Amino acid sequence: MERNRQQIVGPSRRDLLKQTGLAAALLAAGGSVESASSLGSSSGERKRALRIAHLSDIHVKPENGAAEGMTACLRHAQEHYRPELILNTGDSIWDSLAAEEERVRSLWELSMKVWKTECGVPVEHAIGNHDIWGVNKARAKTTGNEPLYGKKWVMSLHGWERPYRSFDRAGWHFIALDSAAIRDEGYIGHIDDEQFEWLKDDLARVDARTPVLVFCHIPLFSAAAFFKGKNETTGQWVVPAPVMCVDARRIKDLFHKHPNVKLCLSGHLHLVDRVDYLGVSYICGGAVCGGWWRGNNQEFEPGYNVVDLYTDGSFEHRYVPYGWKPKT
Ligand SMILES: [Zn+2]
Repeated sequence: MERNRQQIVGPSRRDLLKQTGLAAALLAAGGSVESASSLGSSSGERKRALRIAHLSDIHVKPENGAAEGMTACLRHAQEHYRPELILNTGDSIWDSLAAEEERVRSLWELSMKVWKTECGVPVEHAIGNHDIWGVNKARAKTTGNEPLYGKKWVMSLHGWERPYRSFDRAGWHFIALDSAAIRDEGYIGHIDDEQFEWLKDDLARVDARTPVLVFCHIPLFSAAAFFKGKNETTGQWVVPAPVMCVDARRIKDLFHKHPNVKLCLSGHLHLVDRVDYLGVSYICGGAVCGGWWRGNNQEFEPGYNVVDLYTDGSFEHRYVPYGWKPKT
């Protein structure tokens, strides 16, 4: 088991610190590479405040062994890393945008059952686009007037009054954003104005010495977004609005006013990247389901993230494949 763990974790932190080239890298992509936010700094006084397992894009459903995969992932994370908190950045179920009520009910029942039976640590969820019910009205056979329409279903499961919130844990401030905004019969990546005003107020109230971790589904900012689809075929790089938040600029500007915003975790792309920009690290955390329970997605295996938060506002991150192979 120890040998496997070494293979999963990759090079030690000390090895990474020796690689001065890595310290200068703006982008470290995926695999099992471990990355740290404070490369080159003295680590003598800092202490680990919290270990997080970050899971995203589980897309559970009765088919393709997905529930067994979700179970295997939760067991792997808890047995190997003993996280104190799990962050789930959404797309918890296969799809409810275009699914009928009975199908969506069975998906949520399956999802909640696996969480309840397989997860022994606190979990904080964010909303993914596929967790929104019925905005494709023709296929979902919805009118828009159903009591659980849109985000109300997932919000009711978790007892939320609104789809975004914040809380404090282990000396860090956590902000769960709702970055999947409904547009027509689909969605875009966007923090709507009301939520953005709330975010401004929330950040203003946090002590400047308290490090902040933001988590949401659709990336606020990502480099892997360029490889979602083949959008360069027109001769121009294009990042479509459903892939990354269209308002990344004003979010970046806001975070720049708050140097205690350290880390933003997201999912959605089923790809792994890390972009360090103006003091904030934006990490897109792959997918538990990999390529929608059919194997890898591009170069990335089904996996989850281990994120260690430290008392000095630094962190370490690694992407951990858990060995899932698709069922035939
Ligand atoms: Zn998504």
